[in-house]
Amino acid sequence: MKIFVVNAGSSSLKYQLIDMDDESVIAKGICERIGTGGVIKHKASDGREYRAETDMPTHSEAFAQVVYALTQSEAKVIDSLDEISAIGHRVVQGGTLFSESVLVDEEVIRKVESLGELAPLHNPANALGIRACIAAFGPEKPQTVVFDTAFHQTMEPKAYMYALPYEYYEKYGIRRYGAHGTSHRFVSDRVAELLGKPKKDLKIITCHLGNGCSITAIKDGVCCDTSMGFTPLDGFMMGTRSGAVDPSALTYIAEKEHMSPQEISDMCNKKSGALGISGLSNDNRDLVEAAEGGHVRARLALDMQRYQIVKYIGAYTAAMNGVDAIVLTGGIGENNPELREKICNEISYLGITCDTAANHCRGKEARISTADSKVAVYVIPTNEELVIARDTLALISK
Ligand code: ADP
Repeated sequence: MKIFVVNAGSSSLKYQLIDMDDESVIAKGICERIGTGGVIKHKASDGREYRAETDMPTHSEAFAQVVYALTQSEAKVIDSLDEISAIGHRVVQGGTLFSESVLVDEEVIRKVESLGELAPLHNPANALGIRACIAAFGPEKPQTVVFDTAFHQTMEPKAYMYALPYEYYEKYGIRRYGAHGTSHRFVSDRVAELLGKPKKDLKIITCHLGNGCSITAIKDGVCCDTSMGFTPLDGFMMGTRSGAVDPSALTYIAEKEHMSPQEISDMCNKKSGALGISGLSNDNRDLVEAAEGGHVRARLALDMQRYQIVKYIGAYTAAMNGVDAIVLTGGIGENNPELREKICNEISYLGITCDTAANHCRGKEARISTADSKVAVYVIPTNEELVIARDTLALISK
């Protein structure tokens, strides 16, 4: 059975076609610059590629291109869309309305749209993706939505509330929602499998370190806390995002620089984090290379981020009164052995020793703590698309 996974952003549309018989990727691709131009890059698993620049004013034209790439291009992988059994969509914000993946109907789409106020850059685009997909595949084809926030809906109020006047929670839903939930769910399920223990018996800390970064505490099999908050800006510093800062610093900058709330938000989301500190790049590879060459602010950015990660691990260990397993994932977590070794050394108080030979891996699953370490530290490549495909299969099999 083939399942199509869609991740629609405001100007991009990523997709994968997955064969659920062996969970392999048949083809994947991306449409970029939707609304301002249009380019599709499509790749079949046997290496054949299709690339075209063509006008994509909306997601509908992008979808038409995807359909062409899948069924007719030189890198086609199917003869007709009938071969696809169902479609799973990534949706960023499920608010308190969704605590699990669901089948799409008109009401679900309307709810996804209504949550656009909480995720203005993402939910409206996600909803457009769903509508364009219905138009391309027909209304009979089952579609599902899988939410980035759903995994975090198990947090208790003491973890998700901000200490602001309660009325703002009631009026506007101001609270912690978290993000990257699909990734945290995948790697925490997997680490329990690797340890051969039921997830509900483990205390797990999962660190998703990519362009966006978040850390989640998982106890009794469910998320009990996570670093991202009302939006994916909270927590610790990321590629271009600041993470948590004293709000007074922001009001002070706003006054001094005559910046509007939107400008402050843009500054925190797009010009801060590792980019803002280094003045060089948001890309971890660039920063590692520059720091090795003596770039002082690149080194500072790397040191700051690692320090904040180590603090979160400490905080979540305290919050759960212990930890059995720590997982590192995301582009940085999967590919940066130096960072991983330093993290292990800086949390050696937990009884962790880095297995330096095992830690030399990149993009592969590995246990990087020694066998006699009290806490198991793992690198587990995340696979959000597979979770979406699995959830979709489960929902259409019900
Ligand atoms: P996103 O959050 O956009 O999905 P990724 O999970 O792909 O991002 O992570 C992107 C980050 O991973 C970038 O900072 C990139 O530099 C980093 N990364 C990818 N490969 C490597 C590598 N070999 N060494 C260090 N960092 C890497």
